[in-house]
Amino acid sequence: MKVTIKKTGINGEGIGYIDRMPVFVPQALIGEEVEIRIVDKQKRYATAELLRVVKSSKNRIRPKCFIQNTCGACPLMIARYPVQLEYKQDLLKQSLIKYAQIDPRKVARVKASEDVFGYRNQFKLPCAMEEGRLVSGLFMPNSNYFIDVKKCWIHEDGLERVRMDIMHVLNTHGCVSYNPHDKKGIRNLVVRGFDNRYQCTIVTGNDELDERLISDLMRIKGLTSLWQSIHTIKKTPEVFGNKMMHLAGETSLAMELDGLKLQISPRSFFQLNSKQAVQLYRTIASMVKEDNELIVEAYSGIGAISLYLKDKAKEIIGIESIKDAVVNANQNAALNGCEHVSFLCDDAANKLTYLSKKRSIDVLVVDPPRSGLDDAMLDCILRSKIKNIIYVSCNPATLGKNLAVLSSRYNVDKIQPIDIFPHTPHVESVVLMSRKNK
Ligand code: SAH
Repeated sequence: MKVTIKKTGINGEGIGYIDRMPVFVPQALIGEEVEIRIVDKQKRYATAELLRVVKSSKNRIRPKCFIQNTCGACPLMIARYPVQLEYKQDLLKQSLIKYAQIDPRKVARVKASEDVFGYRNQFKLPCAMEEGRLVSGLFMPNSNYFIDVKKCWIHEDGLERVRMDIMHVLNTHGCVSYNPHDKKGIRNLVVRGFDNRYQCTIVTGNDELDERLISDLMRIKGLTSLWQSIHTIKKTPEVFGNKMMHLAGETSLAMELDGLKLQISPRSFFQLNSKQAVQLYRTIASMVKEDNELIVEAYSGIGAISLYLKDKAKEIIGIESIKDAVVNANQNAALNGCEHVSFLCDDAANKLTYLSKKRSIDVLVVDPPRSGLDDAMLDCILRSKIKNIIYVSCNPATLGKNLAVLSSRYNVDKIQPIDIFPHTPHVESVVLMSRKNK
């Protein structure tokens, strides 16, 4: 069966139509004529496998990565980079029109990523045994099939080197992958790095790691912080278990962004592309005017956004639910001499409801997870008198749905998408809003 691809879907796949029914075709680009085999037929849509590209797009390129097709993390790697940016801008526009009827002309061009390869500063990869050796890799999407990732092109080069060095040391010491029956072995390897300094967390069952293993790991060039996380819960999307143990080196990882000093613990979230984090934070700062009394940042992580805004308000309060991140954020405020910036550990909606009743908030910055703002948060914002909101979103669908609600009280003034994850379908956007009838 043949079909012509008309659109790109939210997961980076091509979409064609058969008798007006959408058919999702992974690995196919807009304008291509492709031969397909339907693999799953639902009432309103079907999913197909690409058998052959009959007429290829001029935007198609050969992906650098030879497991691109099976790994699934980088579906857009088959398209030229400027075209990827056009897809992303279009995905954002479509979502904002669909959910919130926002004028697509408000969506600026996507800011390109400075690095297109080697940009990712962290990985959390599962481990498995392959031909008697412990390897790190990925499960194929929606499957139990494990892929040994020998080289990941989107990881920073130094991060890949450290990954190989760690796997080598673990194998030298005879480490094996996790066995759920005896609850022992290595489940995941988590490494994060900035400026050639790396923090490694080994996620294991009930294992006690040998002193010699620990000292051999600490000999790896650049490894400055080593942690173990004990994780014996059967099936969970969480990578880390409840118990975290500091094994060697420094407890947190130090880094610098635009002259700001930041400390990060393993469980704290941080932007995965350091250079694009700078672009993101500068974009946010450019949208906030000077001389505010109070700025509140909800979902503040280790506090980077608040610290970028340090000169723009007399007081800045961040709200974050992960305790380790709040500890980092308050340390970071102190490290940068910001006594007027503080962070509280709480649910964002809970604390914002309290704050907005007591105080007048000039600017609220929100940077929620992919699920977007929950009803309590939306309700609290609508009832408040907050003048300006900056919504940082990593998910156009939840952004669209949330803006539909907020637009009863707020105008959408600017929308600036930024590419943080080249080759993946992820789209990050910064939206500036102002309260109606001020
Ligand atoms: N703005 C930060 C982090 C954003 S990621 C940065 O740029 O680095 C989203 C953050 O929201 C995570 O740190 C997560 O722990 C936190 N979070 C998730 N749900 C939350 C909630 N209900 N209340 C407060 N924080 C929450």
